[in-house]
Amino acid sequence: MHDYDLIVIGLGPGGEELAGKVADGGRGVLAVDERLVGGECPYFGCIPSKIILRGADVVGEAHRVDLLAGRASVQPDYGPVATRIRDEATDNWDDRVAVERLTGHGATFVRGTGRLAGRGDGGVLRVEVGDDTYTGAAVCIATGTAPAMPPIDGLADLSRGVGEPVWTNREILRAPAAPKSMVVLGGGAIGCELAQGVARFGTSVTVIEAAPHILMPEEPEAGEVLLSVFGKEGITVRQGVGVQSVAPGGDGVVVTLADGSSATGEKLLVAAGRRPNLSDVGLETVGLDPKARKLDVDEHMRVGDCDGLYAVGDITGRGAFTHVSVWQARVLAAHLVGADEPYGGYHGLAWATFTDPEIGRVGMTEQQARDNGLSVRIGTQQLSSNSRGWIHGPGNDGFVKLVEDADRGVLVGATVVSPYGGELLGTLTLAVHAEVPTATLHTMHYAFPTLHRAIYEAVLALE
Ligand SMILES: Cc1cc2nc3c(=O)[nH]c(=O)nc-3n(C[C@H](O)[C@H](O)[C@H](O)COP(=O)(O)OP(=O)(O)OC[C@H]3O[C@@H](n4cnc5c(N)ncnc54)[C@H](O)[C@@H]3O)c2cc1C
Repeated sequence: MHDYDLIVIGLGPGGEELAGKVADGGRGVLAVDERLVGGECPYFGCIPSKIILRGADVVGEAHRVDLLAGRASVQPDYGPVATRIRDEATDNWDDRVAVERLTGHGATFVRGTGRLAGRGDGGVLRVEVGDDTYTGAAVCIATGTAPAMPPIDGLADLSRGVGEPVWTNREILRAPAAPKSMVVLGGGAIGCELAQGVARFGTSVTVIEAAPHILMPEEPEAGEVLLSVFGKEGITVRQGVGVQSVAPGGDGVVVTLADGSSATGEKLLVAAGRRPNLSDVGLETVGLDPKARKLDVDEHMRVGDCDGLYAVGDITGRGAFTHVSVWQARVLAAHLVGADEPYGGYHGLAWATFTDPEIGRVGMTEQQARDNGLSVRIGTQQLSSNSRGWIHGPGNDGFVKLVEDADRGVLVGATVVSPYGGELLGTLTLAVHAEVPTATLHTMHYAFPTLHRAIYEAVLALE
């Protein structure tokens, strides 16, 4: 006997999708979230950050008018960006519409902190939310991540908030204006996107990256292109040097680097990775490690051999992306209602970083393929040598790089750095996911003159 067929703890993109789909399937679902239904993506992540970047793109293009089409004078104003985020994207950070959508599917919604509380009669899983305890035949943990705050001297002493000196993604995306100056701690995708986004609205930006280069998980050439673009746009990048301490000073914050140099900003944006929301979900009550940094799941999203327990989203460690979370949720929903599970593995996992140029990536880098012992052929085409890229002119920094498993004659990875690089990625994602033979890619039609024709030119260059 149990209260619900499924209890979902955490309603980010994965949890919300799962709860809705399983309720659609006629099952009893309890959906629990302590903050906003929809999670990080619509309120503090993907959507509002891309609204900043859409504005920043328009500003960037306007600056190219002088080079291509006459004269344009641009006076960037962050106001319309902040208004779109507040009024159109987030309903002023109110999730009423999302809650109604969820309950419209037939799920029961409870706002509060959910926690596993061991097993009840017959082994059913128990979940506590405040003073209430519920039992579920299945429980899915989908609690996502929060911004990580690295243990840097002085950081914890500075206050965090929209009007305070320290920002994470959660504060910058609520800010009504871009700051005069900003130091960004971390040159990953989130740090680079937000750095370029506000810089184009006039913020003086310094990015600090302790690793050897920005955008570390990507092909090193991608980081090099972005470094050069950032240089041209006046964004300072300090890479290969860590932060020693932070303290109040200047207009806001003084950041002292390990080499003794310093950077100052009105705001310090901490974009130094994510912390999984797993430390207080009661893992120990079902025999799991309470210090776990991720929950390993099988192809049905089952957690280890813990009967009835499932997980989806960032906390599974399979790629911290909305589309992964939703994809996992669809697999699990199908599993729970007895439908065909659309599981297709992770070898064709794709994602994009929405800087200008955009960086699209699928599968492995060259180094990862070599580390996996593959016999590798690489094909690269510079965008400026592709007809459409050349016509595009200013803003055409980039390339297409293909990684082929030469023994099997299929692509195992690709990177596109290009205007609309995330869109160009579609063909390559299909090629890697479906293991389309490179010989077939050789025989395809590629419309002329398109940016995606650079894929054909890179295929021809494989060696
Ligand atoms: C600035 C930024 C930009 C991003 N851009 C992109 C992008 O362009 N494309 C992309 O694919 N991804 C992007 N991401 C990542 C994307 O936001 C995440 O991968 C996605 O939100 C993860 O979804 P999730 O289902 O794991 O849960 P999350 O969105 O992390 O949500 C988890 C939910 O669980 C709730 N919760 C946590 N603990 C409990 C508890 N104990 N009880 C009840 N509720 C709890 C939280 O309140 C939250 O609502 C971005 C992230 C950031 C920060």
